[in-house]
Amino acid sequence: MPDLGSSSSHPYLANGLSRDLRCRSYDVVVVGGGVGGLTAAMGAAASWSVGLLTKAGFDETATFFAQGGIAAALAPYDSPELHLRDTLAAGAGLCDEEAVKVLVQEGPDRVYRLERLGTKFDKLDGQLILASEGAHSVPRIVHAGGDATGSVVEGALVEAMVAGRRVALHEDEFVVDLIMREGRVVGALSLSPDGGFTASFARAVVLATGGAGQLFANTTNPPAATGDGHAMAFRAGAWLRDMEFMQFHPTAFYCSENPALLVTEALRGAGAYLRDIHGERFMLGIHPQAELAPRDVVVRRMKEVMDRDQVDHVLLDARHLACVDLRDKFPTVTQGLRARGVDLCTQLVPVSPASHYFMGGVITDLWGRTSLPGLWACGEVASTGVHGANRLASNSLLEGLVFGERVVHDIERSFRVPGLLEPPEPILSLPATNAPGNSEGDVAAARERLALTMSRLCGIVRSEAALCEARRTVKEIRGALRPPRARVAELELVNLLTLAELMIESALRRQESRGVHLRSDYPERDGRWLKNIAVRRENAGKRSFRVLERGERPDD
Ligand SMILES: Cc1cc2nc3c(=O)[nH]c(=O)nc-3n(C[C@H](O)[C@H](O)[C@H](O)COP(=O)(O)OP(=O)(O)OC[C@H]3O[C@@H](n4cnc5c(N)ncnc54)[C@H](O)[C@@H]3O)c2cc1C
Repeated sequence: MPDLGSSSSHPYLANGLSRDLRCRSYDVVVVGGGVGGLTAAMGAAASWSVGLLTKAGFDETATFFAQGGIAAALAPYDSPELHLRDTLAAGAGLCDEEAVKVLVQEGPDRVYRLERLGTKFDKLDGQLILASEGAHSVPRIVHAGGDATGSVVEGALVEAMVAGRRVALHEDEFVVDLIMREGRVVGALSLSPDGGFTASFARAVVLATGGAGQLFANTTNPPAATGDGHAMAFRAGAWLRDMEFMQFHPTAFYCSENPALLVTEALRGAGAYLRDIHGERFMLGIHPQAELAPRDVVVRRMKEVMDRDQVDHVLLDARHLACVDLRDKFPTVTQGLRARGVDLCTQLVPVSPASHYFMGGVITDLWGRTSLPGLWACGEVASTGVHGANRLASNSLLEGLVFGERVVHDIERSFRVPGLLEPPEPILSLPATNAPGNSEGDVAAARERLALTMSRLCGIVRSEAALCEARRTVKEIRGALRPPRARVAELELVNLLTLAELMIESALRRQESRGVHLRSDYPERDGRWLKNIAVRRENAGKRSFRVLERGERPDD
């Protein structure tokens, strides 16, 4: 029987939380309803009973927010080899080449399958329209509804899943922790809106909880992107990797909104320029692809220019492009900007970098298997190795489709092994609670302080001094909190603190600049750091870091 909360050094966040416990049993439990989770849930439901748990609505996923599209080698002038080359180049030496090969080779078939499922990609004369985006050497981005790809894809997946009527949906259930038994993941413990806990037991658990952009003050990510899956996998003892790598998107609309409106990279693909506040294009001469250089290159240059001019934004210029095309191809951005008082056709758009995609994740093999028996991961929470130190634009929806499907094949294989995966007995007890908890105001203030600290000290540019200050502040924030009550905001804050600590410690260890990780005190890329940093929680609660050689797995 899982032993939730029996001692203070226990890994569970649910430590000390108590309510009457409901229990359910499935063959497969999937946590997360974005592209990764929906792909895995639908695939698994063809053969087994599946429960899908999400903490928010389907329209609050990063998948739903996606604008630009899905990268895949579909054109006659393109090939998986070319897509592989571009992905490896953007990843700054840290991609796992085998994983990227899987992505680019299986990608085209997954896109066609998505189309057969009902996704209406944009076409001209019956042919897919392929857009350009940063660091792609040829146009290869399929899109839908102009710049509304994510909502169209999410909508098609949800519709197909609901029509199949085989997945038991549990929306608004906040998964607090993975349930462990003898070193194996056997389920997920969730908190319902009524404050009750449910234990969902399963022979296989798939983590598909998305990213963690909310760790920073300025983000394009939905409110749900608080890194819960990363944190719960860490608590359970899984190996995580690349926690220092947070990608900032160059062009979020400059404002204090959370999340900030993304101004899609495809606009630069269509010819929009970046200008400084004096009106000068500042990417010319910096990179052969100018505004379409890899994101890390654009963001670094933006930061230099903003620091030079002592401002915190630059300008995106689409005024020279045909207005009718802009409205037609970028309805989400055009309307979003109009609602904020900016006319994309005639005005310069103030933009600034915002946290966008977290490369750090739970280490998986090529089949989505994590280091913990019983646990698979796909989508942004997973570290499959395809993104290296800098994700290539529009490769993440593809990753969710490809690896979400692979997870299902691997679960199928593991279910064939007799005797190994008996469903656990649905018994679980939680100790009585007396957790004092924290007031709403305290939680909000701590969350704001954390985000501002991470943006200022562990954001686009880092240094040892800044990271040490961040470490001290995060410790202070954690130290001031009382053990959390069973409230989502409090539990999310604890997860964000865990991620902040892992990011800061990993960033301190990487003494070089590579991909999205820029150290002012180590400004050069250093071949000695052609390595990954992995971390897991040891039994006594200590963090254990390992520096991995290329291709090495932490358990090797
Ligand atoms: C504005 C924006 C634009 C983007 N544009 C593109 C693009 O054009 N192309 C591209 O390839 N990528 C794009 N990306 C990135 C891409 O959208 C994401 O990486 C991808 O959708 C992640 O999918 P996912 O399934 O891993 O997670 P998500 O789609 O984020 O879904 C996460 C799910 O996990 C659930 N969840 C999280 N924590 C818990 C918990 N504790 N308990 C229960 N459920 C939980 C959430 O409710 C949600 O259902 C964009 C991202 C953003 C933010």
